[in-house]
Amino acid sequence: MPEQPQDSLLGLDYQELSEIAQRYGQPEYRARQLFDALYPQRLSELDSVSTLPSPFRAALKKEGLEIRHPRIEKSFQSTDGTIRYLIAMADGETVETVWMPEGDGGESGDGTEAGDSDWRRATICVSSQVGCAVNCQFCLTALLGVKRNLSAGEIVGQVIAVLNHRQVDMERQRVNIVFMGMGEPFLNYPQFMKAVRLLAEGVGFPESRMTVSTSGIIPRIADFGGEPLRPKLAISLNASNNEVRSRIMPINRKWSLEMLLQAARDFPLRNRERITFEYVLLDGVNDSVAHARELIELLRGIRCKVNLIALNPGPGIDFGTPAEHRVKDFQELLAKAGVPVFVRRPRGLDIYAACGQLKRTVA
Ligand code: SAH
Ligand code: SF4
Repeated sequence: MPEQPQDSLLGLDYQELSEIAQRYGQPEYRARQLFDALYPQRLSELDSVSTLPSPFRAALKKEGLEIRHPRIEKSFQSTDGTIRYLIAMADGETVETVWMPEGDGGESGDGTEAGDSDWRRATICVSSQVGCAVNCQFCLTALLGVKRNLSAGEIVGQVIAVLNHRQVDMERQRVNIVFMGMGEPFLNYPQFMKAVRLLAEGVGFPESRMTVSTSGIIPRIADFGGEPLRPKLAISLNASNNEVRSRIMPINRKWSLEMLLQAARDFPLRNRERITFEYVLLDGVNDSVAHARELIELLRGIRCKVNLIALNPGPGIDFGTPAEHRVKDFQELLAKAGVPVFVRRPRGLDIYAACGQLKRTVA
């Protein structure tokens, strides 16, 4: 896969900034000033970093180095307050990032649009790759294939672009991040993890407010468990046996359900932490009573919760959405067996912003 351009200061960690300061004969504290400008202050150009002497700024720019935020190319506002952003990288590739406010505006259900300030909490759904190679049969992103990995700067850049657009004050407002946009984060592991550290140590997201979802890249699940700083883990399970899972998620032929559940059992959870299993319900495929019973057996002994998502349909997807009562029945069976289970309500369906719908639709 082609490498992303690296002429952007955004995405560099403290160590790398400190090397730059040294290279230009600047004192060490310039690295801190750069870091503060890039991440906590979220400044978008060197010229606004007034703490730096202008000859230093000019020297950086002369070498082609700039902050280079990704550009919001388009945005689509849903009636439920969700905003889908089409965000362009320096090379013109675009990804999608979704803003989901909750609170008076976002969840009022009265059809009024969320204003700029009437949310109490919000979640940003971030992409990790341009497209995705995993090829899950129910997901629109899969239809794009994978173009390239995003760099750490491009991942952090999506978050910063949205925070700035929404004028978020990180000290006073509560924002969560989910790495559940386009792409498989664990197939872009080093850049994804670097972005996580910059978001935690720089932009101000505690690790407990970040969640990553994986389709089940087993070796990376183990690596992830060993990280000193990491988001919470969600696993896209989506089936209760190998036959169904291999059909809807071809990656299951490489890493089976048994291997996936063993990786989940081995995963070192923190105090009160649970693994989330996502389960997309496909009408007549994985949503029967027998499937629910199988699922309950699979999850026995794992500290977890289950998020059920009724399929969000889309062109080119050959599955149907189960009727509401089937979703409810499935949920009740799990709940009765003592499995914490939630039904995720779709956000931004009207603007193609919901789970599995991200494919750079421009209208
Ligand atoms: N690639 C990662 C993260 C992004 S997908 C992963 O697959 O885990 C985020 C979630 O959306 C996954 O749990 C996936 O199973 C779900 N999803 C994909 N397509 C969907 C669709 N059409 N309707 C509902 N959920 C979908
Ligand atoms: Fe990729 Fe996740 Fe979509 Fe599967 S569900 S194709 S892993 S983005």
